Amino acid sequence: MFWYPPLLILVNALLPRPTQCALLERFEDLKRNDFDFVIIGGGTAGNTVANRLTENPNHHVLVLEAGGSNANAFVSMIPNFCARTLGSAIDWNYTAQTGPVMNRVVGLPRGFVLGGTSSMNCMAYTRGTREDWDRYAHVTNDAGWSWDNIQTYVRKNERFTPPADGHDTTGEFDPSVHSFDGINSVTLSGFRHQVATRVIQASKAMGNDSEFRFVLDMNSGEHLGIGFAQSTVLNGTRSSSATSYLGPQFINRPNLHVLLHAHVTRISSEETAHNGLTFTGVELSQDSGKTLHTVTASKEVILSAGSIATPQILMNSGIGDPNTLSNLGIRTLQRLPSVGRNLSEHLVLTLGWVVTANDTDSEAARNATLAAEQLRQWNETRTGPLVDAPDLDFGWVRLPKNASIFERVKDPSPGPNTAHIEIQFLVSIFPAEFRIIIPH
Ligand SMILES: Cc1cc2nc3c(=O)[nH]c(=O)nc-3n(C[C@H](O)[C@H](O)[C@H](O)COP(=O)(O)OP(=O)(O)OC[C@H]3O[C@@H](n4cnc5c(N)ncnc54)[C@H](O)[C@@H]3O)c2cc1C
Repeated sequence: MFWYPPLLILVNALLPRPTQCALLERFEDLKRNDFDFVIIGGGTAGNTVANRLTENPNHHVLVLEAGGSNANAFVSMIPNFCARTLGSAIDWNYTAQTGPVMNRVVGLPRGFVLGGTSSMNCMAYTRGTREDWDRYAHVTNDAGWSWDNIQTYVRKNERFTPPADGHDTTGEFDPSVHSFDGINSVTLSGFRHQVATRVIQASKAMGNDSEFRFVLDMNSGEHLGIGFAQSTVLNGTRSSSATSYLGPQFINRPNLHVLLHAHVTRISSEETAHNGLTFTGVELSQDSGKTLHTVTASKEVILSAGSIATPQILMNSGIGDPNTLSNLGIRTLQRLPSVGRNLSEHLVLTLGWVVTANDTDSEAARNATLAAEQLRQWNETRTGPLVDAPDLDFGWVRLPKNASIFERVKDPSPGPNTAHIEIQFLVSIFPAEFRIIIPH
């Protein structure tokens, strides 16, 4: 699907490997099989929880990840290569049959590697709006989810770092709404492209009354307008949950255990008259189900296998809709009909524009020497056009109040200060089937 420079494989072999000694490949190498917490899925959420739980040295925590190490996943490391992770060996390569409107089979990418989808996503750091979070608080009747209350955790997560080119970022973000001492790195573009600069210039020229006005920081709780992208990148390299929350300063904690290639089949349980149903451990396999292993969790099993595998594991464990489970020959332990239902996913529509700028990714796509030079620069200095995630600027806009769609559909936005449409300005290559070329 994507074009790879010929030097890629060679340079991959020369890349320095992060030292992650505590990552185990074989079940037999686990020093124990009884833990306080067992976390299913070493992805975005799973690794974050593993890091926080192992702050307490008395907690023995096991992370079970079906995929392999991120340290070998070259396409994952280079921010500009994010689209190349789609359909690669670190993608589960799920497909989905869409509903009646589109009626076709589409790819549904999800990370199959330590770090999960944070090892293959496009690194855009967007917090949502105050209205979004306050709606969560309202719907859940839990004030802990409100914008104000969630900021503690936003700040614990975020470590705002200088961009790869070290340029002065004054006027590109609002430092007062950011944290500089969290764990996951967030940064601004480290290689300013001509198109991205023009987008910002144009939005400033439109003035404050325009829907395309300049917004200094779209992560302040109010995002409408156009502004500089912020990305989870550190020194020109992807900052995933694997590189941050399981980074070198954490991975060697003696109470943190991470097993790779560990495919969880189900959560094991016991039912007693006294305690009712108790989930006691996890069953897994490393050889496609030929050998099953069990580990126990004395405190909690944390299921963080992503939006597809989480309900699958719940259903395998007897939790779900009794009709569906009995058709699959699974005994229902807990009736929860909504498990495995109501998934919705957003679509991306890519509009390609012909531009006069000469620093788009198209240049490297048609010039192997230039592509090899960009890769060499990234590899040696972590600078140049490959240091940035594809999104260079963002726009957040609303449909007009009287848009005809609202005659049929209730406005899904949580309030008048939250966008209906997210615009991402890229200079990257996307698969041809997504492109509509508009001549200049
Ligand atoms: C192509 C793409 C681009 C995206 N871009 C962005 C972006 O720019 N910014 C943004 O904020 N969000 C983005 N997202 C969304 C975001 O990455 C995800 O919402 C988030 O990473 C999901 O986190 P998670 O912990 O729920 O799941 P994951 O991070 O997917 O973690 C689940 C983990 O469970 C493992 N697993 C699954 N089944 C099993 C099993 N049976 N046994 C053991 N382990 C198992 C998986 O291998 C994986 O490691 C993007 C998503 C995609 C697909």
